Amino acid sequence: MKKKILTLLLAGALSPALFTGCGNKPSENTVKIAYLPITHSLAVLEEAEELEKENGIKIELVKFGSWPELLDALNTGKVDGASVLIELAMKSKQEGVGIKAVALGHRDGNVVIVSNDINSPADLKGKTFAIPHRQSSHNILLNETLAKGGLSVDDINVTELAPTEMPSALASGQIDGYCVAEPFGAMGVATNAGKVLYSSEELWEDSICCGLVLTDSFIENRSDDAKSFVESYKKAGNNLDKETAKATAKKYFKQNDDVLDISLQWISYNNLDITEETYNALVEKVKAYGLSDNPPAYSEFVKNDY
Ligand code: ZN
Repeated sequence: MKKKILTLLLAGALSPALFTGCGNKPSENTVKIAYLPITHSLAVLEEAEELEKENGIKIELVKFGSWPELLDALNTGKVDGASVLIELAMKSKQEGVGIKAVALGHRDGNVVIVSNDINSPADLKGKTFAIPHRQSSHNILLNETLAKGGLSVDDINVTELAPTEMPSALASGQIDGYCVAEPFGAMGVATNAGKVLYSSEELWEDSICCGLVLTDSFIENRSDDAKSFVESYKKAGNNLDKETAKATAKKYFKQNDDVLDISLQWISYNNLDITEETYNALVEKVKAYGLSDNPPAYSEFVKNDY
């Protein structure tokens, strides 16, 4: 290590941040949170605005373009936490990554979108349906939809597509339906490419989709910051009415008013605690629909005491 520092000094490449003795460590009060530009992560975007003013904790928002990229950053400790599909986080936990779910990302807020000629779940037989990832509540909602029509995933073609591609794939007839994080469902409706067959609450009451996840090292090494962060996050969720949500969404990602007005009708951000009852219902569905045989138990994965 000494040799390496010496080499860096000789090369003149040592940045001021490496001089820990200077008392100026810019990363010390910063929390790095990964997110995707979707309405499902609005609570963390809204919180970022407030937390620094109140507690002096700065949130560094790290934007990703896809779930695999975000997950890689979370799993390798490049960020302190993330707003992420909870099933992906459960899978990471199952594989030994030190993370905990500390709150929901949102409540409700998903829709099953189908082409205009599909009028019932039974009409999906033999059709192609897109989900963002096998490890997602969108996969569970697809299974619930099919069950209503007496079908299973064996009766249709399931394909994984990037969320941004789904509305145009539906419009071109490449797929017959999709379920994905918002506002991509609303985009399909706003452009008349398709319509809502079910909203998530019609299929699964108190559904869980995204979670706010923190790394164990952040929770353990910076316990006061973690507590302030989660408390402030839940408060931001409670304050996130439709108007504030729309303003925050417009600030962080480009979507037109029509799409946001449709999408934000379906979602809420208050009471973001993860209860044992709703988590256990998720675990049962994850097992029943083959997402995982051995998802983590509430006691080992959810931290609900902030
Ligand atoms: Zn979500």
